[in-house]
Order: sequence, then structure tokens, then C-alpha cells
Amino acid sequence: MLEIVALGGLGEFGMNMLAISWAETTIVVDAGVMFPDPELLGVDRIIPDLTYLQQRRAAALILTHGHEDHIGAVPHVLPVVDGPIYGTPLTLALVEPKLEEHGIEGRQLVPMRPRERVTIGPFIVEFIRVTHSMPDCAALAIHTPAGVVVHTGDFKIDQTPIDGEHFDVHRFAQLGAEGVLALFADSTNIDRRGFTGSELDVVEAFEEIFTSVSGKLIVAAFASSIYRMQILVDLAVQFDRKVAFVGRGMLRNSEIAQRLGYLRIPAGVQIRDSEIGNYPAQDVLCLATGSQGEPMSALSRIAIDDHRSVKVGPQDTVVLSARSIPGNEKAIGRVINHLARRGADVIYEGIKHVHVSGHGSEEELKLMLSLVKPRYFVPVHGEYRQLSQHARIAERVFAGRDPKPEILLAENGDLIHLDADGARIAGKAPVGRVLIDDTRTGEVGDEVLRDRRHLAEDGLVVPVVAINKQTGALEGVPEIITRGFVMENSQALLADGARFISDVVEQASVEERTDQGLIKEKLRVELRRFFRKRSGRRPFVLPVIMEI
Ligand SMILES: [Zn+2]
Ligand SMILES: [Zn+2]
Repeated sequence: MLEIVALGGLGEFGMNMLAISWAETTIVVDAGVMFPDPELLGVDRIIPDLTYLQQRRAAALILTHGHEDHIGAVPHVLPVVDGPIYGTPLTLALVEPKLEEHGIEGRQLVPMRPRERVTIGPFIVEFIRVTHSMPDCAALAIHTPAGVVVHTGDFKIDQTPIDGEHFDVHRFAQLGAEGVLALFADSTNIDRRGFTGSELDVVEAFEEIFTSVSGKLIVAAFASSIYRMQILVDLAVQFDRKVAFVGRGMLRNSEIAQRLGYLRIPAGVQIRDSEIGNYPAQDVLCLATGSQGEPMSALSRIAIDDHRSVKVGPQDTVVLSARSIPGNEKAIGRVINHLARRGADVIYEGIKHVHVSGHGSEEELKLMLSLVKPRYFVPVHGEYRQLSQHARIAERVFAGRDPKPEILLAENGDLIHLDADGARIAGKAPVGRVLIDDTRTGEVGDEVLRDRRHLAEDGLVVPVVAINKQTGALEGVPEIITRGFVMENSQALLADGARFISDVVEQASVEERTDQGLIKEKLRVELRRFFRKRSGRRPFVLPVIMEI
């Protein structure tokens, strides 16, 4: 009997992870994270509950592509994986620095090319080329003793891929003709009509921008948007601008992509961000992180004039070349306000076509269903409404087909059993979210917030600060509330802490002080350091800002 269970990614966006078992062998497909709401302070990332895998252990980890919602939890999942990691070369190159950061060594990373296969116990896993918003993405055909399971990964059907690597329609059709037991397909954009469009679709809007901008051009995008980087580098060459990558993730990914040949930059075009000042503003293009308004990102720093080498003024133009992830709208709005206050022209998706999704729309998803024509279909990657919409549309695609494919609307943890008697949901694995605080890397057990060990050992510190909304001035003396944080001389320590908070707030710029997201993050980072230094402990710090 084949058992398939989604440990994340069903009923939510992000945290994609699927476990597939036959007898004693389990393989895991993807190990993604979800990023917390900016309000969930003290938490850097969220990963799926791993209890199910701790009980069985996995023989291999297979990665479809290099987005964080598919690889972000790899270091956290590896302790329950006994075998290698399989993925395309770019995916593995993006995983490597994560392993380094977590001090994980000696792990076998096995590069896979499209149409290559690898045998893992009773499974033969085959990689199939798909197109998406970054290069080197794959779907999987997993040949099992019960039949073939196709997992699409993230995809759209880009018929003019920038790197010439086409979506492998033929292989999907072939598998469909041979017979597919089950299809697990991306549902992200099921509520968009028509086709999504090629990555090339943004070129026109950017050409207009390059033609009309007289000052510096700053484009914020996801650090993984390597196609977008290539488009912008090519335009920069055409319009005689130098290119600077700004922000750690952007710099690192552009280096990796260049090293592996996924990003081509002619000699003499790239400059360091520290060199920007040496060039006239109209000769510079900055590619920056921070399209989601993340408080510590390059764009947020630039927006409040707190970046060491990038300044923005009235002649300059800032483009947000990404969609806003639901929950981030407020933070993004704040960054746009700061930029507008500096006089910059800010362009985002609603104003010009500067972003195109990487996920297929309704027609592409229908095409996948009719190519693969599985016996069982399970929508994945999406909130419940996307999954159920995908199921409704599949009903229409499958209408009149004999035998009619069966649709399983599963949720995280549902144990899907497939055997000669058919498919059914046969129970529930433990599922949930584990909150990760990056300051405690390497101690997986202790990283579990939910079991409260961390809270029990180190306690909780809640600084309460009242700030005047207009002037950003401190109102009254900051207070510190603690729970489970008992120390000798703790009265004196807390009094020092309150003074320290006043100093931090007073030394911040007015823009930081009047921006809840920025000041909270600043207080969190600074206070964590303060308590670690003074008490040797690492309490959770959850700032509360009252705007008066
Ligand atoms: Zn993706
Ligand atoms: Zn994804």
C-alpha cells in the first residue's frame, strides 16, 4: 500500500512538504518554510511539524526547485533524513549555503537533470522540466509499485522561456498515455482566468521605465527572481547603466546564478554597492531585496535613508517588481510612503506591468489535468478555497471521461492510502507549525517554541513603549514585563533595560520611531543582545508599541 501525506502546503501558502511511503521506505518531496506575519515577533520562520517523519525517518529528500517555500526548511528536516538530497544543480546550489549556516557537513547532494531517474528503494524518481519564475525547476514522476505519482511542483507554462529550457509537455503527455495513478498539482493561481504569461511579459514595462527615468533606478524583487535579474541586467547593458546587487540574499543568489551560468553579466557591468557613489545617478541600476517591506531589508533601509551606500532622492525611481504576499501589504505600504516622502517615483504592479506570476492560471492547470489524466487527483499548494476551486475545475475537465478520475480534497496530515481497492483518506498524521528563532540555530529540539522549553528556560520579555505618533518622541518611561525570566538582581537589570530602551528609541531616526514595524524589529534585536550580554540568557522579546 502506498501512503502519501502532505505535512504542509495544503490549506496554506508555503511550507510545502510531502511524504511518500511504501512499506519501510519513505521519501520526502520538498521542505519549505513559511514566513511569519511581521506581527509574530521573535519568530524568523515557520516549518512543518516533523513528528510523522521522526517516527519513520526518510531515505531521501527530493527538491523540485529553489524557492524558500520548498527548500527553506531543509536544514531542519535533515535530522530525520538518512539519505541524500536530490535536486537540479541550481536548487542544490541554493541549498548549500543553508547547510553551511547550520554547520551541516558530509551530506550527499545529488544533481539531477530533466528526464534523469534515480532509484530509491521501491521508488524510481524521475525529474521533468517545468517553467516557473526561476530557472531549473522540475516536476516529478515517482514510479511506485502501486503506479506512477506525478507531482507538478510549482509551474506555469512559459512558451518563451528566457533560458530556452521549455516546459516538457511531451513527457507529461507520455506519462498520461501510459497511465498515471495520482496527480498532485499546484493550485496557487487557480482563481486567475486564462494563461499567466511569460517571464518576458515584463520587458515592455521596464523598457518604458529605463527610457523615462532620469536618476537612479532601484528595482526590488525576490532574491530568487533570477530571470527578472537577467532581464534587468540586459536592459541595463542596453541603456548604459551599471548594475549593483544590494542586500545579502540578492548578492548571494546573483553570485550563485552567475557561477552556474544561469545569470550572464558582461564584464564591467556589475559594480559593488559601495561604488555607486562614484557614478552619476542616471548610470546606476540597483537590484535590491525588500519587495515585501521586510524591516531589515535593503529597500527598507534605503527608504528611511539608513543605507550605507544607497541614497534615494527626487530624481530617482523605485520599482517593486514582485507581488505583495498577503499579510505584508501594511509593511510594503509603509516603505512606499517613506520612499514617496524622499520624493522618489514609486512604481508597483498596480501602476505598470512590472511583475508576472510564476504560477499557472486556470487554463494551464486544466492543460496539466488533461495531459496527465490521472486516476486520482489531489490539489496541493493553496488555501482551502484554491484547493476546492481546483477540484471544481477538475470536475469539468474530467466530465465524460470513462473511468472518471476521482478527486481527493485532502488537508495537511491526511493519510492518503492507495492500493488495489482504490484511494481513501485513512487517518491523520500529527501536523502543525513549528516556529523557528534563528538565534538558536543548530538545536533543533530547543527550536521548538510550541513545547515551550525555550520559554521555560529563558522566559519572555515584553518591553512596552509609548511613542508619539507624530513626532516619534518617547512618552513616559518604557516598561518591561517579564514572565519566567527570574534573575538575581533582576530589578536592577530591568531598570537598566528600561534605560537601554529609551536610548535605542532616542537614537533611532524619526522615521524608524514612527514606523511600528521598524522600531519593533530594532527593539527586538537590540534587547536580545542586551539580555544575552547581561544575563547570558536568550529570552523571547516581544515589543509592544503604543502609538499615542
Ligand atoms: Zn516556486
Ligand atoms: Zn511554491
